[in-house]
Amino acid sequence: MPAIDQHLITITQRPDLVFASGRGSWLTAEGGKRYLDLMQGWAVNSLGHSPALITEALARQSQQLLTPSPAYFNRPMLQLAERLAGLSGLERVFLASSGAEANEGAIKLARRWGSRKRGGAHEILSFQDAFHGRTLAAMSASGKPGWDAIYPAMPSGFAKARLNDMASVERALSPQTVAVMLELVQGEAGVVIADPGFVRELRALTQERGLLLIVDEVQTGIGRCGTAFAHQQYGIEPDLMTLAKGLGGGVPLSALLCKEAFNCFEPGDQGGTFCGNALMAAVGLAVVNEVCRPDFLAGVQARAAQLSAGLQAVARDYGLVGERGLGLLRALELPSPIAPAVVAAAQALAPVGLLLNAPRPHLVRFMPALNVSSDEIDEGLALLRRALSAVAA
Ligand code: PLP
Repeated sequence: MPAIDQHLITITQRPDLVFASGRGSWLTAEGGKRYLDLMQGWAVNSLGHSPALITEALARQSQQLLTPSPAYFNRPMLQLAERLAGLSGLERVFLASSGAEANEGAIKLARRWGSRKRGGAHEILSFQDAFHGRTLAAMSASGKPGWDAIYPAMPSGFAKARLNDMASVERALSPQTVAVMLELVQGEAGVVIADPGFVRELRALTQERGLLLIVDEVQTGIGRCGTAFAHQQYGIEPDLMTLAKGLGGGVPLSALLCKEAFNCFEPGDQGGTFCGNALMAAVGLAVVNEVCRPDFLAGVQARAAQLSAGLQAVARDYGLVGERGLGLLRALELPSPIAPAVVAAAQALAPVGLLLNAPRPHLVRFMPALNVSSDEIDEGLALLRRALSAVAA
């Protein structure tokens, strides 16, 4: 049989599976096998696969206006910016297409502010094991081991501290530091949660020293953690925030938000052909209006409690290390590096498979649709048990 693919540039090892359709928490591959998807495009499909809300918003908007050009206003762009500003208290919004692009924009805005207001301070302090995306500057901001060596020479000016360690933050600051960039839950690092005390101290320190606090909520924002934004659970307000993934519910959409005081790009400093296009903005508006309703968020919290309890029971029954997470971003820690084997066994289950993700060899991550049903969580936990048994055997 010929290989499935002979033409895509290789970027990752993919299983021999071609997905043909999806609905809610379920994906169907060519050939007809169904999979319960608890990964949802890495926390992207906040309302599951192909929800009517998004297909209708796309159909409606696509018949009116796609992209008038970023040089002009369009109504969905204005409405989405107003909605995000109202929800977050950060008055200014730049719309883009990916998380990396939003973070790149945050880095640029912080440096622009540093050149105008802080005598040229430009360094961004970020954290070991952080993940901020795959543009060169976002890679420099990330603390993924080895990422500084793949594409020399990398943008400089990104000092690193350790999460939940204020002394390491103090050591890494310099007179050139302009901002601190933080994930409240380090997703790629293995769902590592920032301590509330650490985050509050960091907010106080950044305020005291005139540094911007940039919170990367690309993965944690728009309901993923049970509140509109994860930082609301920490009782802090960032100066800049980035959103992507769940904001578009499956379409490419991201946002950089900032307080009015930091709205300091001059015309021409920042932009992009697709920034604020009407089609994606209309989808984002529909997603945000649905996900950020109090009753919807209460549902996310209920499903998160159910998944957490179920994973704790699995950990007990199978002698695993335990589970952790915030809202519907959760992880199960394994005692040995068998996570890739668990993911493969879950996918191979029949007649239906289970889709999971292993960001670390000891860790399986769960990022279901935010509207996943109680029955689907139970079914996912039952399939997970079968996968763990298969690996143990
Ligand atoms: N920031 C965080 C916290 C992420 O988890 C990711 C992607 O996983 C990114 C940024 C990059 O987003 P994108 O892949 O849309 O560029």
